[in-house]
Amino acid sequence: MTFISHCLDIVSSVNEIRDKVLSAKKKNKKIAFVPTMGGLHKGHLSLIRKSKLVGDVSIVSIFVNPMQFGPAEDYSVYPREEEKDIKLLEDNGVNILYFPDKDSIYPKNFQTEVSVKKIENTLCGKFRPSHFKGVATIVTKLLIQVMPDYAIFGEKDYQQLVLINQLVSDLNIPVKVISCPTIREDDGLAFSSRNTFLSEDGRYIASNLYSELLNVADLVRRGGNISNICEKAVQNLLDIGFSSVDYIEVCDAISLKKLDKIEDNTRVFGAAYIGNTRIIDNIII
Ligand code: AMP
Repeated sequence: MTFISHCLDIVSSVNEIRDKVLSAKKKNKKIAFVPTMGGLHKGHLSLIRKSKLVGDVSIVSIFVNPMQFGPAEDYSVYPREEEKDIKLLEDNGVNILYFPDKDSIYPKNFQTEVSVKKIENTLCGKFRPSHFKGVATIVTKLLIQVMPDYAIFGEKDYQQLVLINQLVSDLNIPVKVISCPTIREDDGLAFSSRNTFLSEDGRYIASNLYSELLNVADLVRRGGNISNICEKAVQNLLDIGFSSVDYIEVCDAISLKKLDKIEDNTRVFGAAYIGNTRIIDNIII
């Protein structure tokens, strides 16, 4: 096997990233951007592959965004694996890593919030009250800073994807949002940076979120009562060993409104805890 080492440009300031992007655009290069919080895994790598397919210059950002974590959440322990991540970016042919520090993203006196009013209050938003304001604000900032032609996001965080589509449309941000399917381990567990928090037992329990979503999708397709099916799924997850379940809900994939009967574009969403580790997933019905 040949090992291709690649020259990765690492920049940390807005001016630097803007200069690089502008000079690439002057050469008619298309910019494809993958925002991440690091702790890179195969899910992120699939987005990076997509960025290389659609664009000429592939830019990845790594920024663990404090604004999207609640006070009792895992910001301080969120995986930070700079060296490992840089190696992965090099090996996967990324051209630029944008790696800003907290003060350059949120300078003193920063006070703007982006709020996507309906979407931020459903599903995970009910349980993480300020989370999506944090997501919407950082993604808006990053898109304005990088000004890519394409921005690539995973369906794993489906509510986030819907929120970003909405804000890009509402704010006329000139970028094409591209979504990529969820990449899973062999047993179905969606790759997530937070999976590293799980013990061996926890890791086994976690894989049951996906199987339970498959089960819900199957029962709903057969015409069962959606609310009963979701209630039973919550109980099944608790019985299997999840510490708590935030929700299992069947929703319209565009508006994210809860459905009591299956429509053209329907998905089932779930979020549950194993100890302090929150995992989320969703699939199409
Ligand atoms: P994160 O670093 O967790 O903020 O994720 C950065 C991007 O990777 C987001 O667009 C996620 O939806 C996407 N992503 C995370 N996990 C997966 C996965 N298992 N499959 C596909 N995309 C993913």
